[in-house]
Amino acid sequence: MPQTLFTPGPVPVPATIVESMSQPMIHHHSAEAKALFGSINTRLQQVFFTEQPVLTLSSSSTGAAEAAVCSLFNRGEKALVFNNGRFAERWARMLRVFGLNVQEIMIEWAKPVTAEIATQALHQHPDVSCIWLVHSETSTGALSDVQGIIASLRPFTNALMCVDAVSSLGVHELRMDDWDIDVLLCGSQKGFMLPPGLGFVALSQKAWQKTAQCSTPRFYFDLKAAAEAHRKNAALFTPAMSLLFGLDAALDRMLKEGMEKVWARHEQLATLLRTELLQSGYTFFTHHPSNALTTVLIPEWCTDIVQILLKRYAVHVAPGQDHLQRIMFRIGHIGAYTQEDVHFLASILRTIATEYRPSL
Ligand SMILES: *Cc1c(COP(=O)(O)O)cnc(C)c1O
Repeated sequence: MPQTLFTPGPVPVPATIVESMSQPMIHHHSAEAKALFGSINTRLQQVFFTEQPVLTLSSSSTGAAEAAVCSLFNRGEKALVFNNGRFAERWARMLRVFGLNVQEIMIEWAKPVTAEIATQALHQHPDVSCIWLVHSETSTGALSDVQGIIASLRPFTNALMCVDAVSSLGVHELRMDDWDIDVLLCGSQKGFMLPPGLGFVALSQKAWQKTAQCSTPRFYFDLKAAAEAHRKNAALFTPAMSLLFGLDAALDRMLKEGMEKVWARHEQLATLLRTELLQSGYTFFTHHPSNALTTVLIPEWCTDIVQILLKRYAVHVAPGQDHLQRIMFRIGHIGAYTQEDVHFLASILRTIATEYRPSL
C-alpha cells in the first residue's frame, strides 16, 4: 500500500518502528533504561555529526528551542534572525518573549538566506550574541546554505550560530561540528520517522561555556541540568519512554542505511517528484527547494486541489500557511518514502491535471 500522508511533518512511521514502540514499559531508572539511553546518545551523535552530547527532550522541537534560549541567553542580549519564513518568524517571536533584542532581517518568503545577505546584516549589527538560521524553511520549501553562511560570518563574529534543522536533519547533509554550528535543533516527527513528541538539541563547547553566564529562570527546560543527567545516562524527569523505544529503532534504520545514502535517497525522490509534476504542468513556489518538501503553486485551473486530493484520493498534503494558503500547497517527502510512493502521488496529480487543465 503506498503512503497517503505527504505532509512535511508529521511523517509516516514505518511499521517496524511502530512495533518497537509497543514494547512493555520499563522503569526509567532501571539498568535496562540506562543502557538504552546510552546507546541512543552515542548514535544521536553520529546522526548530528558531533562529539558533543545530543539531548533528547520530551517536547516538540519548539521545546528544544526554548530550552536552548532560556539556558543560554539573558534579557537584553542581541539576536540576529533571518526571517525567510514562518519558522524563522517563530524564533524571532520566541526570542522577544525572553526579552532579547531581536534584529529581524526580512527576506522574501520563498527565497533562501544567502551568505551575502547574512554578512551585510552582521556588519550592521556586529554586536549580536546569537544568529538564527532555518536550514530547510518548511513553510516555503526553501533551503539555505547553512555551511556557506556560517563560514562567511565566522571571521567577523563569535556569536552563537543557532540552526533549526527540524526538517533537514536526516534529509540533507548536515555536520554540526565541521560546519561550526553552536546550537542545533531538531524534532522526532520529520527525518527521524517517529511520531511527534521528542525534541533534540546539541550545543557546541563554546555554547556550553556560555550557559554558565545565563541566569534566565528555567526548571523543566534546563539544559545544564539535562547535560549532567545525560553524562550518567540518567533521566531528570520521566521521559517519553515509548518514543525512545521508537527512536532506538529509527536510529538503527538510519545508520544501517548510512547518512550519505539517506541524503542521496531524499534528493532522488525530490527530483523524481518535481520532474513528474513539471511534465503534468505544475509549477513551483520556490526556486531553491529543500529535498524535504515540494511547494507547488495552486493552479488557477484547480484552486481546491488540496481538498480534492483529500476527499477524492484520501491523500493528505499540507496547505500553505497564513497568506500562502491560496497561493501554494506543500508535499512532504521526508523519511521512509519510496519511488513507488512518489509515482503514486505524481500519477494522482497527473490525473487531476488531465481532468481540470484546459488543453493548450
Ligand atoms: C516542523 C518544523 C518545526 C516544528 O516545530 P515543532 O515544535 O516540532 O512543531 C520547526 N521548524 C521547522 C523548520 C519545521 O519544519
